Amino acid sequence: MKLKIFTLGEIRSKCYILYEEGLAFVIDPGYESDEVLSFLDEEKLIVVKIYLTHGHPDHVGGVKRIKDIYDAVVYAPEKDKIWLKMSVYNRIGYEIPVDVWVKDLDMISFIGQEFVVYETPGHSMGSTVLYGQDLLFSGDTLFFQSIGRTDIPLADSQALYKSVKRIYQLFTDETVVYPGHGKPTTIGHEKEFNPFVRK
Ligand SMILES: [Zn+2]
Repeated sequence: MKLKIFTLGEIRSKCYILYEEGLAFVIDPGYESDEVLSFLDEEKLIVVKIYLTHGHPDHVGGVKRIKDIYDAVVYAPEKDKIWLKMSVYNRIGYEIPVDVWVKDLDMISFIGQEFVVYETPGHSMGSTVLYGQDLLFSGDTLFFQSIGRTDIPLADSQALYKSVKRIYQLFTDETVVYPGHGKPTTIGHEKEFNPFVRK
């Protein structure tokens, strides 16, 4: 399975595309992007699934355009509905088209491989990480030597610390972490060098 990484929008959100055999699984298409669409076109990929690590606008703004083209199934955390449905928190301006609301330990299969949802509240109430293929898509919960912001509505710093500790317990040191912003890291590196939450 291949992985393509895009950096989108003014907040430089990461959009990840797993692909194999002409099919693609898109994680966090934060902004509408011609670059992403051209890549899918050039590689002759059909997007079958889209996963949203959490509901913040810089991670969900490109969902509708991709779904309109490919009719992909969109998965998003149930506990972040408030950011995705029409509410004062939804700054996209329309309801994000979600098909499946996920919760802790739900599984999503892609080309015979299972990806597991882990709820990691804190940065948002519904924040999740997605694990599969020994890769961890950590959204805005865990970054390279940093953790998610909690100076935003509905965030909870104590919950975030607990969630990062849970991540350290769940995954091996070798697990490669692909965060919602910034460069990849590993669980082992963060356990040792993360200034906010150590092992
Ligand atoms: Zn966020």
